[in-house]
Amino acid sequence: MLTLNTELAHIQGINKRLQDGLKKLGLITVRDLVLHLPNRYDDFSNAATIADLAVGQIASVRARVAKIEMRRSFRRNMAIVEAVLEDRTGSVRAVWFNQPYILRSLPVGTVGNFAGKATVSQGALYLSNPVYEPAYAETKHTEGLVPIYPETKGMTSRGIRYLMRPILDALKDVPECVPHDVCKKLDLPSFLEALRMVHMPQSAEAAEPAKKRIALEDLFLLQLTNLQAKMKLAQEPAHPVPWTDAERDALLAELPFALTGSQRSSLDEILADIQRPHPMNRLLQGDVGSGKTVVIAVAALLAARHGFQTAILAPTETLARQHYRTFEKIFNRAVHDWSLNFALMTSAECRASYGEGLETDLPKARVASRIKDGHLKIVIGTHALLQKGVTFPRLALVAVDEQHRFGVEQRAALTKSAGHGARALPHFLSMSATPIPRTLSLTIFGDLDLSIIDELPSGRKPIITKVVASTDRPKAHAFIRQEIKKGRQAFVICPRIEESEDSDDATAIPNAWSDVKAVTQEYEKLAKEIFPDLKVAMLHGKMKSAEKAAVMDAFAKNKTNILVATSVIEVGVDVPNATIMAIEDADRFGLAQLYQFRGRVGRSSHQSACLLFTANKSAVSRERLKALTTAKNGFELAEKDLAMRGPGEFLGRTQTGMPDIAMNALNDMELVKAARTAASDVLKKDKDLKQNPHLEERLNAFRKAVHLE
Ligand code: ADP
Ligand code: MG
Repeated sequence: MLTLNTELAHIQGINKRLQDGLKKLGLITVRDLVLHLPNRYDDFSNAATIADLAVGQIASVRARVAKIEMRRSFRRNMAIVEAVLEDRTGSVRAVWFNQPYILRSLPVGTVGNFAGKATVSQGALYLSNPVYEPAYAETKHTEGLVPIYPETKGMTSRGIRYLMRPILDALKDVPECVPHDVCKKLDLPSFLEALRMVHMPQSAEAAEPAKKRIALEDLFLLQLTNLQAKMKLAQEPAHPVPWTDAERDALLAELPFALTGSQRSSLDEILADIQRPHPMNRLLQGDVGSGKTVVIAVAALLAARHGFQTAILAPTETLARQHYRTFEKIFNRAVHDWSLNFALMTSAECRASYGEGLETDLPKARVASRIKDGHLKIVIGTHALLQKGVTFPRLALVAVDEQHRFGVEQRAALTKSAGHGARALPHFLSMSATPIPRTLSLTIFGDLDLSIIDELPSGRKPIITKVVASTDRPKAHAFIRQEIKKGRQAFVICPRIEESEDSDDATAIPNAWSDVKAVTQEYEKLAKEIFPDLKVAMLHGKMKSAEKAAVMDAFAKNKTNILVATSVIEVGVDVPNATIMAIEDADRFGLAQLYQFRGRVGRSSHQSACLLFTANKSAVSRERLKALTTAKNGFELAEKDLAMRGPGEFLGRTQTGMPDIAMNALNDMELVKAARTAASDVLKKDKDLKQNPHLEERLNAFRKAVHLE
């Protein structure tokens, strides 16, 4: 019996050649095939007449073969079959390339449907490679809505349609993953019905609920994955940090400022978590500049107070150094009073702070051994810190900047490194300045608890944001000069020069050198032509870390006026005196990314400005940039970005392994919520899915295919 798990190769009639074509599309099982969904449909529900054919139209005409012959193109050595088709309204040529057998299968007088693209050559219209079906047979390709699939060489839409229908007809009793009542409530068909509706729809509208139902399948599996991960983690042991209210209040009193309301509630959530004997798994989201570092610093210091270690990981060395500086700035006194100390450890440098501004450069081995003997309590570094075999015997807390997920395996590896008998997993906090739309935090990041800082420290003025046309560039430069004369500083961000604009090969490795080229050009222009009297510096990813550190340091100390950079500075960099963020070719960046850039300024009581340069005149791109000037906060913008670009783009083109249809459904809040409720209901009754072996099997396959890091 045919099931979704049947291998296509085992189906009679699918020969080696077809198998190869299918394999190229990644289609191995019946499930793969039936989930190979159409990109679109050609609508042949109204048969066209020959007289009405228009250039470029994809049409199906019912016609009679009036004449047919074959010739050879000598230049390209290709067989060309040419026919004249007639109906009562007129005649048109049909041309087939490289299909000599057509000549014999369509003798003069044949009547049938011919579906193809009306193309023009030397002033005359012809149908190019039309699909033919005889008038008396059941039609798959030339009538009604005809699905067009992602194709590959040797496996055309026609070939796929040819296989699809008999297989869908033969499938019976496909087991349902999603509970029946959920589909009923949303008025969605069964899975099998949905498959039939999407591959053989009565109308384009009828295909919509079918797509929704198919997407629901993945959203449901995703939620099961998230919720099970959550349940599993909740059973693992962690070090409870027994902080007290008095300790917390004393520490908060040491801060040079009062926490904002939402900093405080996020802190409370985190502190409540780390008091428990099971690992925290939390995402701290907050606009750039909202003060996330302070929050984690308080938690880390409370843990340190009780002898526990914290590792804080940043995506780049620049940012690691910056976190270190923030710690220094904020907790100089506290660190001294509590006789704690903390260290920076990157592959470029190691230093430790002993409070009251005392710090020393140290050999790496020495820092490593002070971590190993538990003396160093708070270590700030890049991910290299974890891979370099540094062992933390009392690790209770790991905070990671801009990396959203941390697997159970990663945690286990960390604790294993702590040596004998250690079983407790560290509490984990992810910090993100990328506003994540609600639908994504409920799905892709659905295994994490969420804390949100949604206000900025008081005294900050909103950043003035302007889209600047190329013609207004001199004005913008004059403005920058004037701000610098007032003592302020400016960032200029350049996007990468794209290697090839139209390449849609998502797997192509971006060439980091093209970044360098763009930045170098802009730097030369600004330093030599536009601001020869000012100090301009450059920062890009190909520089050595020591160089980068020196450049950042000089900028932070206001020794340079303008910093021309790549997206290196995207996250986290904190230079409150910088008040101008100028972004070249702003249209090339996503909104979320632009938002990140803008957040580099507006970090003091000075008025800041963000200038978005663009030469792109398209309405869509203007619209997008305008969203940045009007959006009230990062979340609103993130929703817009998601709607405009889709989750694939939003998630930075990472290959999640989630099917497109499910990725697109992440926009659908109703569906997302339904999937989450359904998953939670199922697990409440049957947490290991023991009563549901089919679902468990599906879930395992889903987990293998999807990776969300
Ligand atoms: P984020 O990491 O969220 O972008 P940071 O933690 O780097 O933000 O904080 C940005 C700046 O704001 C830092 O200089 C920090 O010292 C300062 N800051 C943080 N919280 C407050 C607050 N409640 N009041 C005033 N300044 C604050
Ligand atoms: Mg930060």
